[in-house]
Amino acid sequence: MVCGFNFHETYGEIGRTYVHVHHLFEISQIKKEYVVNPINDLRPVCPNCHTMLHKKKPAYTIEEFKDMIIDTKNK
Ligand SMILES: [Zn+2]
Ligand SMILES: [Zn+2]
Repeated sequence: MVCGFNFHETYGEIGRTYVHVHHLFEISQIKKEYVVNPINDLRPVCPNCHTMLHKKKPAYTIEEFKDMIIDTKNK
C-alpha cells in the first residue's frame, strides 16, 4: 500500500496472509458503537511503514507518508 513491499514475494507461503493494517482514525477517537469499515478505514501497510506512520501523533496520513517516501527517493 505504501512502499510496495510484498511479504508473499519475499517470504513465500508464510508471508501470504501477513500484513499490518493501519486504522485511518485513531482508535481512541472512535466511538464504541462505531463499526469499522475495512475498505474505508483500514489500510494494509508493512510493519516498517506502520511503525513510521505512528512516529507522529496523530499518525501521518497515507498521502502524507507517500509524499515523504517520494521526497527521499528524489534526493
Ligand atoms: Zn496504525
Ligand atoms: Zn512498507
